[in-house]
Amino acid sequence: MAIDMHELYGSMVFNDTVMQDRLPKSTYKELQRVINDGETLTRDVADEVAHAMKEWAMEKGAAHYTHWFQPLTGITSEKHDSFLTPIAGGRALMRFSGKELIQGEPDASSFPSGGIRSTFEARGYTAWDTTSYAFIKDNVLCIPTAFVSYTGEALDKKTPLLRSMEAVSAEVKRVLKLFGKDVKNVHTTVGPEQEYFLIKEEDYANRLDLLLTGRTLFGAPPCKGQELEDHYFGSIRPTVNRFMEELDTELWKLGIPAKTKHNEVAPAQHELAPIFTVSSAAIDGNLLTMELMRKIASHHGLVCLQHEKPFEGINGSGKHNNWSIEADGENLLNPGKTPYDNLQFLVFLTAVIRAVDEYQGLLRMTIATAGNDHRLGANEAPPAIVSMFLGDELEGVVRAIIDSKEYVSKGDKTMDLGVPALPSFIKDNTDRNRTSPFAFTGNKFEFRMPGAEVNLSDCNMVLNTIVAKALQDYLEAVEGAKDFEKATKQYMKQVLTDHQRIVFNGDGYDDSWVGEAEKRGLLNLKNTPEALPEYIKPASIALFEQFHILNPVEVEARYEIRLDQYSKKINIEAQTALRMVHARYLPAIIEYSTTVAESIEAKQGISAKISTSGEQKLLAKLADGIDQVTSATERLDAALAKAQQVTDLQKQADDFANSVIPAMRALRNEVDAMELIVGHEYWPVPSYNHMLFYT
Ligand code: ADP
Ligand code: MG
Repeated sequence: MAIDMHELYGSMVFNDTVMQDRLPKSTYKELQRVINDGETLTRDVADEVAHAMKEWAMEKGAAHYTHWFQPLTGITSEKHDSFLTPIAGGRALMRFSGKELIQGEPDASSFPSGGIRSTFEARGYTAWDTTSYAFIKDNVLCIPTAFVSYTGEALDKKTPLLRSMEAVSAEVKRVLKLFGKDVKNVHTTVGPEQEYFLIKEEDYANRLDLLLTGRTLFGAPPCKGQELEDHYFGSIRPTVNRFMEELDTELWKLGIPAKTKHNEVAPAQHELAPIFTVSSAAIDGNLLTMELMRKIASHHGLVCLQHEKPFEGINGSGKHNNWSIEADGENLLNPGKTPYDNLQFLVFLTAVIRAVDEYQGLLRMTIATAGNDHRLGANEAPPAIVSMFLGDELEGVVRAIIDSKEYVSKGDKTMDLGVPALPSFIKDNTDRNRTSPFAFTGNKFEFRMPGAEVNLSDCNMVLNTIVAKALQDYLEAVEGAKDFEKATKQYMKQVLTDHQRIVFNGDGYDDSWVGEAEKRGLLNLKNTPEALPEYIKPASIALFEQFHILNPVEVEARYEIRLDQYSKKINIEAQTALRMVHARYLPAIIEYSTTVAESIEAKQGISAKISTSGEQKLLAKLADGIDQVTSATERLDAALAKAQQVTDLQKQADDFANSVIPAMRALRNEVDAMELIVGHEYWPVPSYNHMLFYT
């Protein structure tokens, strides 16, 4: 059946077209002023908008509404209320007021607040984010909202993101003024590439670790991994294809521009990339995409795994954050061809380099999670060290600026940086680029450290804010200068000299990079508890405060929540591992060893001449395995009990990282070794072979 894209796309979104259609002209105009110019929404306008929304939603089959928001857990939250309003005579009407549209009051006590509420005010409320369109999902009208405490502290991921977009936009406008441009609409753009795994529902249901933690805590490597490289861009399984088709359709209905889908490198791994859009909308879209992936998978007998590292030894899943800035439709990270624009491009490039170097720890922190710790530095993902890839051409340009030399491009075009004619930057899609945490890819930067599961609000909040800060530094240096071009070049030379250490075009997977990075003074924050303190460094707190992104209380709260979540996640993993060993693995190994022992006995009962040496060897290995598994369990038990007693959040997270995780790893090694020798029918859970290779 042909798809009528005109009908389909955005059909579940209360977007601009619908608003123009359904709102009285004056109301529409008022609302535009609220959305675009930040004017306050009057009750009358809110009432009219709410009414129109309800009518529209009911025509689409919705009888409920919800304020849709992103609490500090990073996942989205909703609580459904119906439009129902009882009236006299035992009847009811469907009503939706402006008040209900603009403000909600979820029970804030059940959401993490990192002590904000105990310090300040007990309640929190959700407020309509007029910059995001309302939409219908599962017959519920969803109203995107910000979640804040009554004293104004942000309790969500979105509020500071919006603030950071404002901050960078203000600085960009000032910079562009110097270039003679008076722009109106500046926003950052994001194109999030989402990786995920699809496995069969029945396998998932048989693995407590996947069910409770999203990753396999045990599992011997499959006989075949990804070494044949036959999955990447390979033809897509029919079941998966049907899943992807349904997903695309549902995403398009929600106005999410899903564009590319393909198999990834690992078996059973896939990727979806949308066309980029305004950061906040792109992140809303990504969260919805993740939710729909999970839901739609179930229609096809599949489960969508979004954990960063569901399978040990197999590529993990990332979420590349493609990022740029757009000013009145112009992509500011497009190198362009005309000289003046090139200088402008170099100013923004310099700002990003400075920002990423100066706040490398903060950026690293934003994507530090228990799940991502397994992925970063593994063989397919960027290392935990932040560095930037510029590609040969652009690095040459940077070098030339530092050395005050002419730049000679590969095409033998000389380029005097006074009148730069930048070579056109073809996408540098080399392997080296793939290993870089932060790569320039033609007309945007691609931040590759975020893991598949993370809410991208945090890293974009930081990215926007640190670039705002770097642009402000630039403005301070050149504003009022007699010769603006000269001052700009001097500034760039200085900044690029100071921050060149962050530029690394080599192979990030190479072991020598770790030593080299250390020599350069780059941070190597190995795991989440090491990275999180970057949040509360004085420089970070000052930065957030200066640009009104987060106040010190909010920063502290977020740091605590992240620590707490980390420890809780590892705690659940350890408990799950122990339970699986006692309930599943040990009984299985014991049962199998009993069978082997019985076989020996039976044979010997018939004749002592029948050899049992194979069984004897196997039995000895199994008996030894049972002992090893048991003592590894005892060690994990002890490490866990100790970590659970620690009260200081940072120390507790450190303890989970440094003693519980190694104990879990040791236990896993013992169990996985047994999986290789225990009979298939005895093994209690689906194997990697089984889960990753299916038809
Ligand atoms: P790949 O990284 O796989 O080579 P592409 O370069 O085509 O793929 O794009 C990857 C993602 O980058 C897409 O989601 C795309 O929309 C996004 N993207 C492209 N240009 C921009 C931009 N100016 N700002 C933000 N994201 C962008
Ligand atoms: Mg990419």
